[in-house]
Amino acid sequence: MKRISLAIALCSVCALSFAQVKTPVDTISRGNLSIILYDDKSWQYIEIQPDVKSATIDTTDIKAENWVTTSVYAQNPDYARTKDASVIDFGNDSCSFPAKGKVVSSFGMRSGKMHTGIDIALKSGDAVFAAFDGIVRFAGWSGSKYGNAVVVRHYNGLETVYAHLDDVKCKVNQKVNAGEILGFGGKTSNHLHFETRLKDNAFDPELVFNTQTGALVADRIPIYASNFDYMKFVDNSQYHIVKSGDTLYGIARKYKVSVKQICDLNGIKESSILSVGKRLKLRP
Ligand SMILES: [Zn+2]
Repeated sequence: MKRISLAIALCSVCALSFAQVKTPVDTISRGNLSIILYDDKSWQYIEIQPDVKSATIDTTDIKAENWVTTSVYAQNPDYARTKDASVIDFGNDSCSFPAKGKVVSSFGMRSGKMHTGIDIALKSGDAVFAAFDGIVRFAGWSGSKYGNAVVVRHYNGLETVYAHLDDVKCKVNQKVNAGEILGFGGKTSNHLHFETRLKDNAFDPELVFNTQTGALVADRIPIYASNFDYMKFVDNSQYHIVKSGDTLYGIARKYKVSVKQICDLNGIKESSILSVGKRLKLRP
């Protein structure tokens, strides 16, 4: 049985001990370390150790939650879902680096915009492979940002995204094995855009794969809230899936776009009734 373990933050205090009450004024996170700064200019290290045995979520039925087959996002990216550290457990899973080329662009800020994956060079007709065993959640045309894309959900809660393909060779709900061909690329784009996501939030695929060798970094990979810190500062959301109680004005405010822009992009009026589950485009 494969599962993803939610972590309990075990805090070990390494610095000073405090007799009087202090107020934290800031927190800086790096990897599994948080540094808390207090109003009296003292500080404290907190080391977060994900406990893989605690609070496990059974993901045997990986289609049970948010199985959305019409969008590359199952929900929407949301920093609020990153507060617990997680351990992605690969166990004895087989794995495959998603393409044969070299990484030509890394995860991170690029020309003032966040690049939420890695780019792997492709030549025309190159195959793109499933990174791990899983089930195809999305396959086909996804819009101008990702183009033809495939999203595979894996048995440990991880999702992988393969974007800018020429031909998609798999179908929604299809079971795939690591190394199985998902599609071909290299013609309309000279690279594969590859993402790793937890609960729709992208993190650096180089935490999972050694991009020099194509091998897994480790069998169990801890992912911390700090791996999603970029989300506090940028919101690259392209779509919102309407939930019960949503209003156009609320959605516009949340994503810092205008109501008019949402209406124009989706061919709706300000007075239109939003149906739950509808996918609204937010940015051109
Ligand atoms: Zn890219």
